[in-house]
Amino acid sequence: MTQVERHTYDVVVIGAGGAGLRAAIEARQRGLRTAVVCKSLFGKAHTVMAEGGVAASMGNANSNDNWQVHFRDTMRGGKFLNNWRMAELHAKEAPDRVWELETYGALFDRTKDGRISQRNFGGHEYPRLAHVGDRTGLELIRTLQQKIVSLQQEDHKETGDYEAKIKVFAECTITELLKDGDKIAGGFGYWRESGRFILFEAPAVVLATGGIGKSFKVTSNSWEYTGDGHALALKAGATLINMEFIQFHPTGMVWPPSVKGILVTEGVRGDGGVLRNSEGKRFMFDYIPEVFKDKYADNEEEADRWYTDPDNNRRTPDLLPRDEVARAINSEVKAGRGSPHGGVFLDISSRMPAEEIRRRLPSMHHQFKELADVDITAEPMEVGPTCHYVMGGVEVDPDTAAARVPGLFAAGEVAGGMHGSNRLGGNSLSDLLVFGRRAGSGAADYVEGLSARPEISQSDVDTAAEGAVRSFDPRGGGVEENPYTLHSELQQSMNDLVGIIRKAGEIRQALEKIDEIKARIPNIAVEGHRQFNPGWHLAIDLDNMILVSECVARAALLREESRGGHTRDDHPSMNANWRNKLLVCSTDGSDVSVVEQPQIPMRQELFELFEIGELEKYYTGDELAAHPGRKA
Ligand code: FAD
Repeated sequence: MTQVERHTYDVVVIGAGGAGLRAAIEARQRGLRTAVVCKSLFGKAHTVMAEGGVAASMGNANSNDNWQVHFRDTMRGGKFLNNWRMAELHAKEAPDRVWELETYGALFDRTKDGRISQRNFGGHEYPRLAHVGDRTGLELIRTLQQKIVSLQQEDHKETGDYEAKIKVFAECTITELLKDGDKIAGGFGYWRESGRFILFEAPAVVLATGGIGKSFKVTSNSWEYTGDGHALALKAGATLINMEFIQFHPTGMVWPPSVKGILVTEGVRGDGGVLRNSEGKRFMFDYIPEVFKDKYADNEEEADRWYTDPDNNRRTPDLLPRDEVARAINSEVKAGRGSPHGGVFLDISSRMPAEEIRRRLPSMHHQFKELADVDITAEPMEVGPTCHYVMGGVEVDPDTAAARVPGLFAAGEVAGGMHGSNRLGGNSLSDLLVFGRRAGSGAADYVEGLSARPEISQSDVDTAAEGAVRSFDPRGGGVEENPYTLHSELQQSMNDLVGIIRKAGEIRQALEKIDEIKARIPNIAVEGHRQFNPGWHLAIDLDNMILVSECVARAALLREESRGGHTRDDHPSMNANWRNKLLVCSTDGSDVSVVEQPQIPMRQELFELFEIGELEKYYTGDELAAHPGRKA
């Protein structure tokens, strides 16, 4: 029988980024005993790296802003493939979630009259991102952690135990979700330091594990983003949607090679920075797509006036949604107009005094000075696309964040639907807060409604333990594979064949490579023992990366159009017949299957927030028949 440390909770939250912490706070405030489990150190999640800000239509910088405008921008950014109910809840609730953070102790940058300052970002009609310099995620995490500590202090007062109702298990990786019949019963994992196994018995699990970027070679994501939550959900019988949509952020560092992919915040462009090619031309004016022509300036003078007079000028195309800018940079480089190291130039030095740059963008100044020996107050940066965010994720109920498996919930980057085919910058931090809270509350409702607690069988625990240590005893009959080699081959293949521009033939090649790697995985051999062993950790993570990569590639092959974070060279246009189709991934344990599923039509009063002329660019004639513009 496997030796396991056992814990019993009402709710287990996997992930301690913004979504996980907000979910845990909610579950604890509802009185439930809650565990937060995270693979890295507490405080070191993706959320902490967020730079630019959190999008919420508080209307501080422009009083014309409101939830309806934010909703419209989000749907436009996602090319109308978003789950409209999620986009509605998000736009309506984001301001409250930001104000709530201030009650937890957050200190956002202020306007001159003392309100929360808001900055411009791509695809947002008005300045909307509440921020703390370019270190917003750090403040968000600091504040949520502080709230957890204050709840623990209340619990200590009441029970004498700080961890009576909420406890953090850091550097602890969950490898399997366990069920009782069709219901979630807990999670199995290991302590990264000792390698010892740990079991959580709980009727509700909230997945808040973030993204999948480590399946790609060039990425802004850090080591933890191996798609664990996506894979855990799939293996437990839940479904993933929108997996073909991957966001390649237009501005990652391209030089030196050791830092390739590290993010350069969109805040640089939001604050006035412009993109130029090797000829010094502001090339974005050549890449304004038809659907955005009336919203973006077609000349430099108007674009520059917009920064100070947004009501009377159209916005700069440097701030088009990320998918558009990433593709434009790709085209400039391909046409031979790139920078020396294969990117383009991002110039803030000629647009703003040095002191102002250092004040508004301190992290960017530091990052370039330290990593690339470039002083961004005096010279342009070199930037290019980097895999940044996955729009796809666990299919959830918008109101409760419940997945298809009873007892399983998902929020944040691991959940799908909210952002459609492309996420707007700043809409992730707000998404984490809005749906983190809803997931915590959904889980609490679910647990309170149960008549009996599910149970975990010993045989399931033994199977999970055997699976975890498989690579210490490979089945290769003498052939031994190195997990680092397989990881690197997967990353290269996803980058080259299912990256920013895709073609059917190349995606098929990627799928062949995935099959080949899958066949080699049982031969992975790791040295040593379970005490802190990164090779072993990677061997476990690889199972997840391969499963998630297969979902991305299979969905990308099926979707024969280009939309948002999915660009098919062989189907270059957006196709209205694909707009309302979701591709839903599931697995039988070994293979991934993908089926089409129609979207639920948008509620009438939301539909009517858009002009018929705009909807005609995205919807089929039949779908538009109910719009008053068409009826008239
Ligand atoms: P994360 O913050 O990614 O946290 C995931 C958690 O899950 C971690 O604690 C991790 O340890 C844990 N975990 C994962 N797998 C396991 C496992 N198997 N077992 C246990 N724990 C596990 N968005 C914006 O809106 N505005 C911005 O300005 C912005 N800037 C960004 C800058 C950078 C450099 C990057 C990389 C992203 C940025 N984003 C921004 C995106 C945003 O930060 C992320 O999408 C968001 O933080 C994801 O939050 P999350 O709570 O879903 O997950």
